[in-house]
Amino acid sequence: MEQFELSAESRRLLEEAQSIGDELAPLAAKDPGSVNRSLIAGLAEHGLLGRLFPPGGGVSALDLCLIRQGLARSSTHAETAFAMQGLGAYPIVQSGSADMVARFIPAVVRGEWVPAFALTEPGAGSDAAALELEATKDGDGFRLTGEKAYISNAPEADLYTVFARTGEGRGGISAFVVAAGAKGLSGQKLAMMSPHPIGRIALDGVRVERSDLIGSEGEGFAVAMKTLDLFRPSVGAFAVGMAEAAREVALAHAREREAFGQPIVRFQAVSHLLANMAVEIEAARMLVYRAAAAHDQGKRDLLTGLAATAKVFATETAQRAVDGAIQILGARGLEEDHLLSHLYQEVRAPRIYEGTSEIQRNLIARELTAGRWPR
Ligand SMILES: Cc1cc2nc3c(=O)[nH]c(=O)nc-3n(C[C@H](O)[C@H](O)[C@H](O)COP(=O)(O)OP(=O)(O)OC[C@H]3O[C@@H](n4cnc5c(N)ncnc54)[C@H](O)[C@@H]3O)c2cc1C
Repeated sequence: MEQFELSAESRRLLEEAQSIGDELAPLAAKDPGSVNRSLIAGLAEHGLLGRLFPPGGGVSALDLCLIRQGLARSSTHAETAFAMQGLGAYPIVQSGSADMVARFIPAVVRGEWVPAFALTEPGAGSDAAALELEATKDGDGFRLTGEKAYISNAPEADLYTVFARTGEGRGGISAFVVAAGAKGLSGQKLAMMSPHPIGRIALDGVRVERSDLIGSEGEGFAVAMKTLDLFRPSVGAFAVGMAEAAREVALAHAREREAFGQPIVRFQAVSHLLANMAVEIEAARMLVYRAAAAHDQGKRDLLTGLAATAKVFATETAQRAVDGAIQILGARGLEEDHLLSHLYQEVRAPRIYEGTSEIQRNLIARELTAGRWPR
């Protein structure tokens, strides 16, 4: 991104993702509480999963954001399926051995294997470093025992990146690949407010080899944080896409709907609500692109502060935008099958996952007091 404008190529990617989302929307709406393998195959056929994992690694955070924003404008379910292929597999791309990448990533890109990122536990959410799932040495390998909760794509995923304790503190966390079907692995689906494939897994002495380690022993926390630094701005992009969709519906309605003899957009209370939405969404979009650009330009010192700022501002903006849009639509926005009713359910979770708004503010405050950000 240069001079605050997207290049023509980036604009094309954003529009292309939106139109792919439009095409996949009917398929995506089928059973959104389960892993939708036809939808994931569709994302692969359209080349979007290939954009997520370019040959030789080096995913562009800006491309990731543009695809998520575009898909979110037309189908949140397609967006989520896309994002989860990335989140689950990215630790392998980023820190796995060449052999591990060759073993798993091509099937993820083809949409044949569905990955999951398994960090959260019943007793450790925001405080991820307090995780307790144990990896005990067993000959040349390890045995994993414990539970993970609120894991997207679980228990239907084909492979899990599992973060486990091999020692004390943050430096005592290691990441492993665990294939579905491993002896001792079981799981259960969870039903959430917005339908989403998500569940718990339990590991009972699951055997993994040393070659299943993602990165070195003790590097797991860094693997998780590096993955989140890439994905946090893109959660903001998802939020921007939802906010834009809400704004479009509200604007169209405000122009058409008449009350007291005139279109409601002529009432200042309504037009200012729309204006505030426009201001905040534009600011959120800029923050998201700037954080993505910092990632792509290797500005690691700025990335944590920027990514946290983009995520917290964009997700909170989207919440206000969807709420404001419903206010403008009145009762019809609350009909069960209305887009805004759907977005109202969808918009809540991004303020919780990949670090709650409070955790983002803690990170921003830490970077601020250390003098690393803003710059
Ligand atoms: C739809 C959805 C999908 C998810 N997918 C995944 C996934 O694929 N993989 C995965 O590993 N996890 C996933 N999660 C879990 C998610 O990452 C956690 O829910 C999140 O990290 C928060 O943890 P928690 O829910 O246990 O809340 P808690 O950590 O218990 O926090 C509760 C409250 O306390 C606040 N709080 C905690 N610590 C502090 C602090 N230091 N300062 C200020 N406030 C604090 C929090 O902000 C929050 O408001 C998903 C969650 C959802 C909702």
